[in-house]
This record gives sequence, C-alpha cells and structure tokens, in this order.
Amino acid sequence: MYEIIDGKRISQEIKDEVKQETAELAGKGIKPCLAVILVGNDPASQVYVGNKKKACEYCGFDSISVEMPEETSEAELLEKIKELNEDDSVNGILVQLPLPKHINEDLVIESINPAKDVDGFHPVSVGNLLIGRPGFLSCTPAGIIELLKRSDVEIAGKECVVIGRSNIVGKPMSVLMLRENATVTICHSRTKDLKEVCKRADILIVAIGKPKMITKEYVKDGAVVIDVGIHRMEDKKLCGDVDFDDVAPICSKITPVPGGVGPMTIAMLMKNCLLGTKRQNEV
Ligand code: NDP
Repeated sequence: MYEIIDGKRISQEIKDEVKQETAELAGKGIKPCLAVILVGNDPASQVYVGNKKKACEYCGFDSISVEMPEETSEAELLEKIKELNEDDSVNGILVQLPLPKHINEDLVIESINPAKDVDGFHPVSVGNLLIGRPGFLSCTPAGIIELLKRSDVEIAGKECVVIGRSNIVGKPMSVLMLRENATVTICHSRTKDLKEVCKRADILIVAIGKPKMITKEYVKDGAVVIDVGIHRMEDKKLCGDVDFDDVAPICSKITPVPGGVGPMTIAMLMKNCLLGTKRQNEV
C-alpha cells in the first residue's frame, strides 16, 4: 500500500515555523518585508502574486506589491529593482515570471541584489548552490527536499532519477539531491531508453511538463515518486506529469497533484525571505 506525501500539511508546518520565528524576530524590532513585482496582467500571475501576499500576511511579514503595466520598458523595470535593492526596509525581491516578451528576463534576474534574491534564480545563487556555499535555494527543488526529509525518505546512497533539466526545477533539483548524497541521473528530451533509466530510480522526480506522461512502465516497484508537473485539464481538474492512478499502486510513496509539490514553493519562498532578513540583520 502506498503512502501519500502530503504537501499541504508539510507546507503548513513550514509556514507555521516561519511564523513562529518571525514573531520572535519582532521582539528584536525586525520584520521581514517581501517586494513582489508584477508586470502586465496575466491572470495566472495575478493569482500567484495574490497567494504570495496572503502567505506574507500569514507569516507576519510586510509585503509590497509593485504592479506595472504590460508596456513597461525594460529600463523602467530595472530602475524599480534598483530602488528596491537600495531600500533597507526591503529584505526580499521577487519578479513574477514570465515577463512580457520585450523584456530580457536574464538581465532582470541579474539586476536583483543577490542578498535579496529569494527566488534563488540569480547566477550568484545558482553558483553558490553548485559549490555548496550558503545562499538562496530555488524554492520548488528546496521544497522537494523538505517533502522527502519530512516524509522520512532516506536520500543518501539512493539512486535518484530527475526527468527535466530546466534552470528552475531539473538542474537545481539534481544538485540538491547530489548534495544529499544520492546517486543522481538527469534525463531530458534526448535521453535514450527513458523507461529503462527511470526504472533504476529509488527516487524518481518528474519535471517534464507533459500531462500524465509517466506511467507504471517507468517506475520500479516500491519507488518514491515526486511529481512536479502541474496542468489544468479540459474538465478543469489539475493533474501532474505522472499518471497517478496508474503509478501509485506500485510506489512506496508518491506526491499527489494538487496538494504535493505545488504548495511547497510558496512556503519555501517565505523561508527564504526570513533567512534573507536574518542575514541582512546579522541575527
Ligand atoms: P520546462 O519545459 O522548462 O522543462 C521540461 C524538461 O523536460 C526539459 O528539460 C525537457 O528536455 C524535458 N522533457 C520534455 N519532454 C521530454 C520527454 N518526452 N522525455 C524526457 N524529457 C523531456 O519545464 P519546467 O522545469 O519549468 O517545469 C516542469 C513542470 O513542472 C511543468 O509542468 C511546470 O508547470 C511544473 N512546475 C511546477 C512548479 C510547482 O511549484 N509545482 C514550479 C515550476 C514548474 P530538454 O531540456 O531536452 O528540452
């Protein structure tokens, strides 16, 4: 019988820990503040930004929402980021992606002060992750490590296969699993015999962006399966990259969609913002 890894419960646990530490910081006159910049009016992005604001309220943070119109120029956005970089009352800065096409995302990410890069996308954060120095970890992969640890999944010495090599999920995920002493294989669209490679995994982490692509033919009996994918189907229901009903019966543990990896991302964002605040205040 498989066990569900409950991301809703674990993310709540993390937010409660952050809330508790924030209350303790208040005694020292310190209150974290997250600035979220949204350019344009993409409905999904608006929902994500709203959720981040709600999480800030829950944890006891201040939050600043900067809403800029779709036609904002790259220079205007960079100027806004510079202002927030220089504002000592702002501890974390996040630019909601994707940005309108006329703005260079890489340039924008690089303009954020690495000390306030709570999304962990800045090249300095990525470099620190790779060489094992303290920095900010990308929220979704860091959330997956928390899910595994808090579900008593042993990582050290295990065969881990990560499907996907994006900069925001697959690559940082692989490095984090390596840091936890797993033996890591990274798969992508050019991988040969994907099924065979995946079947080696004790821990299979799936971030392909293809609804229900992973069926039981890809999974070893008793494996732990983490589904990062999130898709809205025609019937409005959400599903992941893993065909849950097919795969779950042969797993030992599996994340559902929704309620698995998804809720962890914002919880880890809050954790990063608290961490940044503590570092900036040297407490
Ligand atoms: P990307 O599209 O950036 O990357 C997908 C990766 O999957 C690529 O590396 C690609 O390979 C690989 N891939 C695609 N097709 C295949 C295939 N047939 N066989 C093997 N590999 C394949 O996606 P993201 O990493 O940004 O996101 C992945 C999923 O996770 C999406 O569903 C996204 O919505 C979700 N997501 C969820 C988050 C959450 O909070 N829960 C956060 C971020 C993402 P190649 O490099 O060769 O093209």
